[in-house]
Amino acid sequence: MAHAVVAGAGIGGLTAALALARNGWQVTVLEQAASIEPVGAGLAVAPNALRALDVIGLGDEVRKLSAIQGEAGLRRPSGRWLSRTTAEDAAARYGDSTVLLTRSALVGILAARLPEDALRLGTRAESADPGTGLVTLTIPTGGTETIRADLVVAADGIRSRTRAALFPGHPEPVYTGVTSWRAIVPCPGAVGASETWGAGLVFGVMPLAGGQVYCYATAPVAAGLRAESEKDELIRLFGRWHDPIPALLAAADPDAVLRHDIYALDTPLPAFHSGRIALLGDAAHPMTPNLGQGACQAIEDAVVLARHVSPGSPTQITGGLAAYSRERLARTTPIVRRSRLIGRISGWRDPLAVALRDGAMRAAGLLGPAVAVRQFDSVFRWPA
Ligand SMILES: Cc1cc2nc3c(=O)[nH]c(=O)nc-3n(C[C@H](O)[C@H](O)[C@H](O)COP(=O)(O)OP(=O)(O)OC[C@H]3O[C@@H](n4cnc5c(N)ncnc54)[C@H](O)[C@@H]3O)c2cc1C
Repeated sequence: MAHAVVAGAGIGGLTAALALARNGWQVTVLEQAASIEPVGAGLAVAPNALRALDVIGLGDEVRKLSAIQGEAGLRRPSGRWLSRTTAEDAAARYGDSTVLLTRSALVGILAARLPEDALRLGTRAESADPGTGLVTLTIPTGGTETIRADLVVAADGIRSRTRAALFPGHPEPVYTGVTSWRAIVPCPGAVGASETWGAGLVFGVMPLAGGQVYCYATAPVAAGLRAESEKDELIRLFGRWHDPIPALLAAADPDAVLRHDIYALDTPLPAFHSGRIALLGDAAHPMTPNLGQGACQAIEDAVVLARHVSPGSPTQITGGLAAYSRERLARTTPIVRRSRLIGRISGWRDPLAVALRDGAMRAAGLLGPAVAVRQFDSVFRWPA
């Protein structure tokens, strides 16, 4: 049986392993961490990714465990709405609205479907040879091992060592100038989804199933800065913004507030493959979170990859990988750029620029929710 080795058991790697296994591949998933429990944060899964999950039979399970975004929109720190859409508008246009769930719920669904014994935890892929498919691993005891793969899927994240080895000299992801916070907060009452833009600051609220709310925030600061208490830092920055933000921050567990600086790959790779190796997800196209598409694109990558490579001859596999590369570069490059642009605009601090930006968004918002939804056509309508 043809053997695919997947390096990385994030959302991208797990989805790729499932999609390949469904198409007749024997899969081995290598994960350097001792467990696959993801960070305690939420995730927006957009209609395009739900359709990709449908291809591997998991769309409905994800829909069932999710909260529907309901009414969502963009606000100012005062609470004034700049634009609004509803789940119904999105569903009418795309067949689904964006759904919200915890990362651990999604990873749990994916991991539960892996073939028995496919996952090797505490095992790091050290190198992979694009010509022979030989993968060298460090195993939990600290020793090394070599395994042969017909196909290697590098889903090893934003700091991908496979990307660096395949494309030496290619620019690394750059710091975008923005740091992010994330927290899941208990919230017994109903709250709607919103993202609020101030002068350089962003705060997002996403209702989850089970009386929880996922909050995220961004601010422009130097890389690597950390506060003594990230919860206090959030209260300092956002504690006077509109309801329910102050109450959500007050309810946050200080130990559960995550902080990460945002990096993105501004120069697209020349290809997402080399020989028998495919790059996928953040390893291929790390992007800012502003469009909520990083994991969604990783999921799309996975099902497209499985469609292009059948467990046949080496020529079929390398030919399939070239087709995968072409299709996914064309799809993801504009999304990476758009996400970065939104990040830049939401980071504006100059009061005049912010007033002009908000005025333009308010004017666009007056055209109604159906028009607001349409701006996502090129992202959510997939396959085109
Ligand atoms: C603040 C924030 C909010 C976001 N919100 C959203 C959102 O709402 N919706 C959305 O779609 N996206 C969102 N994203 C983006 C999303 O989190 C990522 O794009 C996605 O998780 C990438 O998945 P991945 O599987 O490619 O990589 P990762 O999740 O990074 O997984 C890589 C895995 O590979 C393992 N690994 C690394 N190197 C090796 C090795 N050599 N050997 C073995 N294992 C290895 C790592 O331990 C890790 O488990 C957000 C990102 C941020 C920062």
